Amino acid sequence: MNKQSDRYFMGIALAESKKALPDCLPNPPVGCVLVKSGEIVARGFTRRPGSDHAEASALKEYTGSLRGVSAYVTLEPCSFQGRTPSCAVTLIEKGVAEVFVALRDPDERNNGKGIQMLVNAGISVEENVFAEDVAKFLSPYLAIENHDVVDREKFR
Ligand SMILES: [Zn+2]
Repeated sequence: MNKQSDRYFMGIALAESKKALPDCLPNPPVGCVLVKSGEIVARGFTRRPGSDHAEASALKEYTGSLRGVSAYVTLEPCSFQGRTPSCAVTLIEKGVAEVFVALRDPDERNNGKGIQMLVNAGISVEENVFAEDVAKFLSPYLAIENHDVVDREKFR
């Protein structure tokens, strides 16, 4: 798949992520699209805290086989189980073929761990896809110094 189409699909994921506000707060607004054979087969965005993250929301919408499916996610899938299951684990268990990520999640509980989990599971990961545009939208989240719960409240 060429660079142009990767940027295109991440652009759609970015558009999805904008629908997450304000209900997702204090979690970051994230978007995800699933692509199979060059076609978008599902879209998702972060729901209210404790409900689906973008990846889970897109996976719920898609009932077909995940063989050959690529996931485009604006922020690194979470590595840890919080109020919801880890999205990295979910993507691995569902058998997604490859994952494109715009930005690493600066939250220290994640920060490369989610990507490492995917790589360790044999999933191809490409980072920095359409990163500048996504960073512009996520700048209030990226600017948080410490991503603990108290600091995240400021993101609200
Ligand atoms: Zn997640």
